[in-house]
Amino acid sequence: MKKTAVTVAMLAIATLGVTGVNAADPAPKDLQRVVNEAHARYKNLQDGKNADYIPILTKTPSELFGVVIATRDGRLYTAGDVDYKFSIQSVSKPFTAALVMTQQGPKVLDEKIGVEPTGLPFNSRLAIELYKDQRSVNPLVNAGAIAAVSLVQATSEQDRWNKVLGNISDFAGTPLTVLEDVYESEYTTSFGNRAIANLLYNYERLYSDPEEAMRVYTRQCSIGVSAKDLAIMGATLANLGVNPLTNKRVMNADDVPELLAVMATAGFYDESGEWMYTAGLPAKTGVGGGIVAVVPGRFAIAAFSPRLNEAGNSVRALNAIRDIAGELGVGVFGPNPK
Ligand code: GLU
Repeated sequence: MKKTAVTVAMLAIATLGVTGVNAADPAPKDLQRVVNEAHARYKNLQDGKNADYIPILTKTPSELFGVVIATRDGRLYTAGDVDYKFSIQSVSKPFTAALVMTQQGPKVLDEKIGVEPTGLPFNSRLAIELYKDQRSVNPLVNAGAIAAVSLVQATSEQDRWNKVLGNISDFAGTPLTVLEDVYESEYTTSFGNRAIANLLYNYERLYSDPEEAMRVYTRQCSIGVSAKDLAIMGATLANLGVNPLTNKRVMNADDVPELLAVMATAGFYDESGEWMYTAGLPAKTGVGGGIVAVVPGRFAIAAFSPRLNEAGNSVRALNAIRDIAGELGVGVFGPNPK
């Protein structure tokens, strides 16, 4: 049997009752309750601070906080600031990796980017020198994400950008646009990322002109999303690659487990081990303050709040998602009641 068929059959056995309703999922009132409670529990938490290495991110109001669950059939459970558009930043990375997998098959990630966690910060230049066989290391750190953008099959820079934006919009189920002020602020100060792009090019691990990759990558990171958008993007992964709002297939069902595996090992920067130990869900964070976590085959939990910890992860968002995963007992390695 093909892997997709096996996966779908296993999901069906695990989650569907005779009625066809997702019997194993928590009741809607419980989903709404855990969202409300997590929001209330952390809305006054002041720990961490806005990212400041991209100057304009210091201006995002720090008190914003939204929490969303989106189910694989597109139902939303929300609390707080769930419509505010912030920059997607690194949460974009797995979705462009998905585009590369769709265009060229999953092996290309392994062969041309890498899939090992670095144990080093997301913007590490050292990792490129340390991991001599892989260089860019994985598609969720900056090096690998810039390489992924350069791997997108395109006829021109404009075409590359259209494909990247179109793909992320398809995951969200709505047309997304760039926050131009964030793009300007980041592109004019991206000296570290520019060094990464040039180093990769030097080692033949970048597959387009370096400055073109830099522009498209930085635009990708500047796409405006809400917590609701992130939740639907995650729900598309939970729904084996079909967007629950538009019913459009956005990636191959077969590639979803591989992508979730990379999110599980590298989605939380150099805190990925701690995250998997305590929350047990594949996830991706961004320095804009967004996080999305996926309960495979079931639903996604997203949250947004600008203040970050030392590793670059939103303090309120990570606490809220971790609590919800624990309360619902949905960690992929087994329930982890708090
Ligand atoms: N655009 C950001 C950068 O390249 C993304 C970092 C992040 O969200 O982790 O530095």
